[in-house]
Amino acid sequence: MTVTIAKSAGFCFGVKRAVNLVYEEAEKSSPVYTMGPIIHNDNVVQDLEAKGVRIIDDDLICTADGRRPPAGATVVIRSHGISKAQYECLQASGYRLTDATCPFVQKIHTIVSIMSQKGYPVVIIGDPNHPEVIGIRGWVKGKCRVISNSEEARQLSFDRTEAVCVVSQTTYNYDKFQELVEIIETLGYHVMVTNTICSATRERQTEAMELASASDVMLVIGGVHSSNTQKLYNICQSRCGRTYFVSSLQDLETIRFEEGDRIGITAGASTPNTLIQEVSQHVRRAELRTDAQRKFQNY
Ligand code: SF4
Repeated sequence: MTVTIAKSAGFCFGVKRAVNLVYEEAEKSSPVYTMGPIIHNDNVVQDLEAKGVRIIDDDLICTADGRRPPAGATVVIRSHGISKAQYECLQASGYRLTDATCPFVQKIHTIVSIMSQKGYPVVIIGDPNHPEVIGIRGWVKGKCRVISNSEEARQLSFDRTEAVCVVSQTTYNYDKFQELVEIIETLGYHVMVTNTICSATRERQTEAMELASASDVMLVIGGVHSSNTQKLYNICQSRCGRTYFVSSLQDLETIRFEEGDRIGITAGASTPNTLIQEVSQHVRRAELRTDAQRKFQNY
């Protein structure tokens, strides 16, 4: 068996920056709250919790322990970003804000804010329920639609004499994004597209696609709620039939590896290196077991 780990697997710079910021805040100030889990990874969230970091709902109505953070508390905005209204609400509430919004996401906020103020309708290609998309939508001043499939693209009903501004969720699948943009163009809109899929995501998806094409088994590691890991899984699945979603070492127990398998490993943007290494070690141990069984049979 051979095991290849994608170079782009694991924390992207935006997530790494956000997680580091929370650890720094936890060291120096108390109490610290994050707007939603800082990362889709239970181990990291639990570790932060042990250091006193609490999670609050995005709408700030209640906290995990049923209380609104006290005035003066540190509130960390995660890499997904938040809407303009939430931002203003936080500022007005007297919290100490630490903004870990990824610069790639901030760029989208600026684009949709400027374009919508100029009067252009905005189309966001992405998952309407994803916090990043909800946040982006909250920076649009006028007409806005979120679309995630070709049917929704065909149903766009803005005035066709108007130009529309199109942006994407940062972790969206590039091919899908292109497909939806083409549909909007064929409807006759003048489309002003900004490809806002972040470079880290593009690299990760391209590498995963290439690795899956050259592998017999693909392991995609990440949290079950991580949308970028789910997209990676879909990409790998379309290239490699034996693709498995791995969120913990227990998930590996039901996977059967064959002698000679070429195993590829990739991971979502919120997957810590420690888990990637543990999975890879587990697979290599399976390799040793397979080797030992073969020698025993040949003996
Ligand atoms: S995936 Fe891209 S946009 Fe999202 S946090 Fe990471 S670097 Fe930023």
